[in-house]
Formats: sequence, structure tokens, C-alpha cells
Amino acid sequence: MTSEKSKPKTIKTIKINVDKCNGCRACEVICSASHASPRYSSTNPARARVRVIREPLADIYIPVYAGEYTAAECAGRDKYVIGGKEYAECAFCRASCPSRDFFKEPDSDLPLKCDMCESDPTLKEPLCVQWCLADALTFEERTEEAAPQAAPEDVDAGLEALANKHGWARVRDALGRLAQED
Ligand code: SF4
Ligand code: SF4
Repeated sequence: MTSEKSKPKTIKTIKINVDKCNGCRACEVICSASHASPRYSSTNPARARVRVIREPLADIYIPVYAGEYTAAECAGRDKYVIGGKEYAECAFCRASCPSRDFFKEPDSDLPLKCDMCESDPTLKEPLCVQWCLADALTFEERTEEAAPQAAPEDVDAGLEALANKHGWARVRDALGRLAQED
């Protein structure tokens, strides 16, 4: 066997416990300060890569992390009822999207995205996690084996085995069908 060796990859996760979040917004403050230029020169939650959806009368506080940019907003919106509380779909959405002011650089309107506080030297935990005194945010890091990629010679050997069993014509037909489905 000549398969390429798989390379481990690091998966970083922030686990959010919405029941523990009290809406204090300390996570927004430290995130915006650490991304200010120069660093820590100012705070402005509009620059934060985490925003807290706050509905105090409904006891709803949801920290949401900035994810991908999207040019178009959703045409329809769902609602979720969890534990007797009703949440708008946007409350969980990470997109930098035209429908709201979150996750856009205030001066330029450029989209913002959480970078997990990547820095050199590496932080033990992202700053928002460190500043959340309510323990609503928990950082987890794990290493996963990436799926091994088959080496070209292994693919050739696999195709030859299939051809020996079914004939090259049928293998070519099957590959052609697969290519069309893509
Ligand atoms: S710092 Fe923690 S408790 Fe405060 S708003 Fe952010 S996630 Fe919620
Ligand atoms: S992990 Fe870092 S960049 Fe991401 S929201 Fe938290 S403080 Fe901001």
C-alpha cells in the first residue's frame, strides 16, 4: 500500500451555554479592544467578532460569533422554541449579512470574522472566553486525523481491479455517469 499519510488537524471550538450568559457584553468589549488599531487603544462593540443578542424581558442572551460573509439575506426566517423561549433564526446566525449591522467594520463596512484570537505567541484561551466571568463560554481544542487522500497509484490499482471484474467499458460508463452527477 502506498496511501499518503494523513496529517492531523486542530479543531478549535467555543462551547456556548446560553443559560449561563447574563448579557454583560464583556466578551464584546475585550474582542473589540484586542482588534483595535493600535491594539487595546479603544473599545467599540461594533467592531467585535462576537455580539450578544439581548432580549432582557424574555431572558434571552445569546453570544453569536462572526462567521462567513453573505451578499444576500435569507428570503424566509424560521423561529425556534427551546425550553419555552422563542428565538428568531437570526439569533443563531453567524453571517455578516445585509439584514443587520452586526459583523461589519463600522468605518469601511467590510465584513468581520472571528479569528479565534490567533496570535503569536498563542493564547491559552481566546480573550472572550477569558473575560466571561459567568463561564458561559468554554474553549475546547482537539486534534483530528484528516481523512487520508488516496495516492494516484492506489486509484489506478483500484480502477484496474474494477475493470478486471466488470470490464473497462462498464467502468468508463460508471465514471461518466458520476461525472455528470457532479
Ligand atoms: S461575557 Fe459571557 S456572560 Fe457576558 S455577554 Fe459575553 S458570553 Fe454572556
Ligand atoms: S475568539 Fe477572539 S476574535 Fe473570536 S470573538 Fe472571541 S475575542 Fe473575538
